[in-house]
Amino acid sequence: MKLNVTILLAALVCTAHAKLNVVTTLPDYAALAREIGGDLVDVTAMGKPTEDPHFVDARPSFIVKLRTADVLIEGGAELEIGWLPPLLQTARNSKIEVGASGRVQASEGVHLLDVPATLTRAAGDVHASGNPHFMVDPIIAKAVAAHIATAFAAADAAHAATYQANNQKFTATIDAKLQEWGRAMLPFRGQHVAAYHDDWLYFAHRFGLDVNVFLEPKPGVPPSPARLAEVIGLIKANNIKAIIVEPYHNRKIAEKVASSTGASVVDAAQYPEALPNTTTYIQLIDVLVARITTALKH
Ligand SMILES: [Zn+2]
Repeated sequence: MKLNVTILLAALVCTAHAKLNVVTTLPDYAALAREIGGDLVDVTAMGKPTEDPHFVDARPSFIVKLRTADVLIEGGAELEIGWLPPLLQTARNSKIEVGASGRVQASEGVHLLDVPATLTRAAGDVHASGNPHFMVDPIIAKAVAAHIATAFAAADAAHAATYQANNQKFTATIDAKLQEWGRAMLPFRGQHVAAYHDDWLYFAHRFGLDVNVFLEPKPGVPPSPARLAEVIGLIKANNIKAIIVEPYHNRKIAEKVASSTGASVVDAAQYPEALPNTTTYIQLIDVLVARITTALKH
């Protein structure tokens, strides 16, 4: 009997250890990791849902997490270049090195849009290698989920079939929802939309909008009064009805532009849990579609 208890305890300890330690740079990757990994993974996102992904506050606890990570999921398109490299240098974990099976670079195989002809970070431009905000395109999210399933299967072969089944389920759900989202967005095809920062390009591309006026003169550069005067002119000229802002943007500036033009401010986010009722990736896209279509109807 005593032996059985020992075996049972050993089994419990073993099960606890069997969970994959997954670290993600941002909460969108964490949401996908939970879809694919379920109860088999422990997921930590370094960036908070309402935090600016270009400037995440790099805390020492992240190094501890990275040191014991089995899998790291990051964008691979320089969105996190300002804060991730020093953390990885200090963590020194060969499992999550570039090229290792424990490293998921989400942009692998993604056709990045707006890649500049010349590589420069001049004037604060934070999109020097192409626009890195691709996760709000659900078709790209499917590809990223597949990368994640492959990495989890490599790190935990015993549960490979579960990870692949979860990936198939996620893919099927996205495919079904794409029909619904597409129908909701269809009446607004070709409409121009403004945004504080240039991070709706892939969403717009997927759903037929043209998000082409930005409050920031360049990505990462705050708008000056002269820029705002110019933006007001562009919003009027393009009959723009919606200005998309995110939690870490200066909403007051967007409100001023809105009151001068008759457009409405849309509180949006690129990360699950930044808005109410957006625990999962699919819920996030549901809420984005609802909020944007509501603003465009007016
Ligand atoms: Zn950006």
